[in-house]
Amino acid sequence: MSSIIYGPVPSWRLGRSLGVDLLTGDGKTCSFDCIYCQLGRTARRLAVRAEFVPLSALARELEGARNVPADYVTFSGMGEPTLASNLGDALRLAREVLGLPTAVLTNSSLMAREDVRRELAYADVVVAKLDAPDEQLFRRINQALPSFSLTEIVESIELFRTAYTGKLALQIMFVEANRDAARSMAAIAGKLSPDEVQINTPLRPCPVRPLTTDEIAAIREEFRMLPNVVTVYDAVRPEVVAIDVLETRRRRPET
Ligand code: SF4
Repeated sequence: MSSIIYGPVPSWRLGRSLGVDLLTGDGKTCSFDCIYCQLGRTARRLAVRAEFVPLSALARELEGARNVPADYVTFSGMGEPTLASNLGDALRLAREVLGLPTAVLTNSSLMAREDVRRELAYADVVVAKLDAPDEQLFRRINQALPSFSLTEIVESIELFRTAYTGKLALQIMFVEANRDAARSMAAIAGKLSPDEVQINTPLRPCPVRPLTTDEIAAIREEFRMLPNVVTVYDAVRPEVVAIDVLETRRRRPET
């Protein structure tokens, strides 16, 4: 549709998802460089927020998308959306123009910032990524900038949970590297009390293999004490994912 707005694309948790990319540029802009990312290597690895897309440009694009049928406006795109310093204003603008519920897919890295937590609170749904139970696996899977620590990220999600009145989903991407850490991840998830736990594995083309349905079922079993746990295989058959790869290949994979 444009470089800022794309889709709607099918999302396994958000239905028809009209995407907003506040990071537009050449390649991915992210604070992580996850081993399973389908967007390729991180081109701009940032830990500080900046304005990449002026609000006036977003307003024009949103006007053009008024009649697009969608269930959610999802802020995701080519990297980590909380790196955009105008995320809060953009969320309010999207709701005002399109009248649709809003969602943000975040890697949780900037949640320690008060301004980021305040802006995320404008969204109806926040999907927060957490893939590792310890610093070592965090470094290995998410390849975060050295300034980030898993301990701080977990604490900041907990802090966000206490004030946020929307739906908080915790999304865990399981690959071979963290397959055996499911029990520890379930313990952390239980402590954070999200409204939903999403157990995912990368079904779209990426450098690592997705876990099988049996492997994900075994991981799901470790989460049996938690309410509202869903797995990607509950919602999506691998052959269905293959159909929308072409449409979504330049965009974030894990919705
Ligand atoms: S999967 Fe998400 S958080 Fe990880 S590198 Fe890709 S865009 Fe960044």
